[in-house]
Amino acid sequence: MLYHSTNNPSHRVNLREAILRSLPPDNGLYMPDSLPVLGEDFWKIQRQLSFQEIGHTVAQAFFGDDVPADALREIIDGTLAFDAPVITLCPGDHILELFHGPTLAFKDFGARFMARLMAWLTRDDDRMLTVLVATSGDTGGAVASAFHQVPGTRVVILYPKGKVSGLQEKQLTALGGNITALEVDGTFDDCQALVKSAFLDRELSENLNLTSANSINLARLVPQSFYYIHAARQMPQGVKSVFVVPSGNFGNLTAGLFAMKLGLPVDHFVAATNSNNVVPDFLRTGHYHPRPSKQTISNAMDVGTPSNFVRMQAIFGNSWREMKFHVSGMWFDDDQTRAAIREVNAIHNYQIDPHGAVGWLAAKAWREQHPCSATITLETAHPAKFPAVMDAELGAGSVEIPDRLAILADREKASIPMTTDKEVFREWLAAM
Ligand SMILES: *Cc1c(COP(=O)(O)O)cnc(C)c1O
Repeated sequence: MLYHSTNNPSHRVNLREAILRSLPPDNGLYMPDSLPVLGEDFWKIQRQLSFQEIGHTVAQAFFGDDVPADALREIIDGTLAFDAPVITLCPGDHILELFHGPTLAFKDFGARFMARLMAWLTRDDDRMLTVLVATSGDTGGAVASAFHQVPGTRVVILYPKGKVSGLQEKQLTALGGNITALEVDGTFDDCQALVKSAFLDRELSENLNLTSANSINLARLVPQSFYYIHAARQMPQGVKSVFVVPSGNFGNLTAGLFAMKLGLPVDHFVAATNSNNVVPDFLRTGHYHPRPSKQTISNAMDVGTPSNFVRMQAIFGNSWREMKFHVSGMWFDDDQTRAAIREVNAIHNYQIDPHGAVGWLAAKAWREQHPCSATITLETAHPAKFPAVMDAELGAGSVEIPDRLAILADREKASIPMTTDKEVFREWLAAM
């Protein structure tokens, strides 16, 4: 399979280049030349397969030309070491729990797959690979965990100072070893812009053997399509679900669109955002206006310039009407999100995190407009990652903290301060 830039279909590269270079030189994003479709045979038997077997088949369809089947199988089995169960709150109202991985957010699926695929792609290289990643909260932790102590790699994480939760920060800054955290005096968009600037500097990027672990990297997205298929088959036979996706950079939603293109029967997608509502506005008006991000309590979705939007457009042939046919947008502010956390707890005795709560509000609104539909809301992180918000709404100590998160509380934070000045960042990187 070859991959092309969304800005220039004739700029085409192989898998290794698409994954390790991460970003085309023309500032577009890589897309597979054709999105794979799975045949009847698969859709007939998929209910009998394991989650890992679903992963094998999908990964084979995307990467089978370039990675031998046994290597791919090993990558998938290493990635999918935990489940993604669907929970029913009440008839029609379902939650897909994506937080059962080591860092308690859905980012573990993409980060673990990417670390393993990159290790395979560079198995004969003796050059150090430098993984650069900007995080709005959860990506950094997942990437740090996935690459920690992987020989031949070092990870540089950029996160916005004061804008991630305390435990999220510990996940980024307490591992040490081959993981370095830069605490940027700015927003997530600033972090993302710094990362992009490093990639667009071909000389620096070449010298440092830079690669990106953000969802601009296709390796992050493909494994996220596995759990859409896995979720749909946990629903009663014949039910076509509406997937409600709490969104920031829209990687998760793009992965859902990949699943639909693979042939998964999907009723509709709802893109749920906080007050960073660029995409819901676009879906309503047809006009796309990226703007600076605003800080909210669902901080991992505080994105004003969603990077995967161009991939969504590419999937729908740049047609607003076509996108609107499959995807609706809704957005909710912090007060509504807080109320939803209390309501879900009161009615369903379920603790939903601030990101999932934004999704749940969208799902509820959707079912009010479409009373016969079944919604699956993606619960993108464990509520224990956001103790300040959860304690404020449900009472102190109401959310039990899983051991793998609790042990971080006593670890030392180690970070390096960084400005939003691209030149300062460039010099720091060059001197690494
Ligand atoms: C990253 C993240 C999101 C947003 O996902 P995108 O793929 O960037 O749209 C939502 N919720 C949580 C908890 C996240 O960590």
